[in-house]
Amino acid sequence: MSNNPDVLIIGAGLAGLSCARHLADSGISFQIIEASDGIGGRVRTDEHEGFLLDRGFQVLFTAYPEALRTLDYHALDLKKFTPGAFSWFAGRMNQLVDPWRTPGGWRVALESDFGTIWDKLRISRLRSRLRRSSIEQLFQRPESSTKEFLTSMGFSDHFIHRFFRPFFGGILLDGELRSSSRMFEFVFKMLSEGDTAVPACGMGAIPAQIASHLPDDSIRLNALVEALHENEVTLAGGEVLTARAIVVAADGPSAAHLVGEAEPASRSVTCFYYSADEPPLPHPTIVLNGDGAGPVNNFAVMSHVAPSYAPAGKSLIAASVLGMQQLTEQQLGGFIIAQMKNWFGPVARSWSYLKSYRIPHAQPQQFPGALEPAQRPVRIRPGIYLCGDHRDHASIHGAMVSGRRAAEAVLADLAR
Ligand SMILES: Cc1cc2nc3c(=O)[nH]c(=O)nc-3n(C[C@H](O)[C@H](O)[C@H](O)COP(=O)(O)OP(=O)(O)OC[C@H]3O[C@@H](n4cnc5c(N)ncnc54)[C@H](O)[C@@H]3O)c2cc1C
Repeated sequence: MSNNPDVLIIGAGLAGLSCARHLADSGISFQIIEASDGIGGRVRTDEHEGFLLDRGFQVLFTAYPEALRTLDYHALDLKKFTPGAFSWFAGRMNQLVDPWRTPGGWRVALESDFGTIWDKLRISRLRSRLRRSSIEQLFQRPESSTKEFLTSMGFSDHFIHRFFRPFFGGILLDGELRSSSRMFEFVFKMLSEGDTAVPACGMGAIPAQIASHLPDDSIRLNALVEALHENEVTLAGGEVLTARAIVVAADGPSAAHLVGEAEPASRSVTCFYYSADEPPLPHPTIVLNGDGAGPVNNFAVMSHVAPSYAPAGKSLIAASVLGMQQLTEQQLGGFIIAQMKNWFGPVARSWSYLKSYRIPHAQPQQFPGALEPAQRPVRIRPGIYLCGDHRDHASIHGAMVSGRRAAEAVLADLAR
């Protein structure tokens, strides 16, 4: 670890690690100061009784340009979800096939009663427009809430309620689809251009791979930065560290506290993990709450996607509940199992509870206006820089891009 690094980076999430990687590639010395006991920030995986539990259900869209540019997908041994989804409504599971990526899918899609023929045509038109547009163009388009956008496109209320609301609500952590239509269009584009996947060793393998490119001992864990001044930071306990540049790569609320800005509002989520002797569904597909009854918004048998997520003979189930829940673990767990019994029958009562994660700040809120401009400045004050998903947008891609942007700003300023 360098005693007098050129740059101090506060936070070892994807933004901080990406910033560090760009600095390392340019031969600039740095030290990352991380408050918690590990790297990855919101993208971490715990080993628990032989299961791999991501800290909240989360996935990598392989089309993310920054991930494509930076990560070695082969080494991550990515395991893919089957395109499409199941949605529970009208008292049964309904399959939404992705006709572009499912052999024979067009016939199934056109014959299914999941949405009207007009919904299917509108999806097709939207998909081709988004594939023709660049990400930069999408983030400059006029915006509204996702719900208003979908309604203005002519999608039926049924289709919005049974598919878009739980599917994109689960990704944007926003069951009311109030998030910016720019975010919706970006996610839709990513979904149509690549796969949805998790690394065989869990989502934590993504930050671990970035960190593997950094010099040994360049990350200091269990060190909370309490205060920030020009060219110096003060750790809890009073230790003072100095550098030519300081990059705050903390989550939005912590960063706001450090640099004296207003805190961004948060989107919250709770994820319950269960072990089952038999998988309740034979497909590695996301299952959606299409009728809106019960707490679970989306559900997946993670061990179908990546068998390494569960020990032999067991299945790992992830059930996500949006928002901050006031209920105790036991109360919420009771409602979840009651809902799952409705979906999968009495077998749901035999599932063993493993662990749950409540994440108050899972993503910054991104209502219309929050992404204007799409890329917020990374230079805050002389010598102080800011990166994180709150600078670009809430995604693995957004966090990584912001880290690169901060590194580019630091490199340009240090070279002066
Ligand atoms: C449950 C969940 C599901 C998600 N699903 C997806 C998904 O499917 N696809 C997708 O693309 N994105 C998803 N996201 C969003 C994505 O994970 C985040 O946008 C991204 O990881 C943010 O990275 P970051 O580096 O900006 O912040 P963080 O990951 O929050 O990293 C910030 C780091 O700074 C540290 N820190 C904070 N304050 C201090 C301090 N004072 N001193 C020292 N260290 C400090 C923190 O401990 C943390 O390690 C999800 C997020 C969650 C939580």
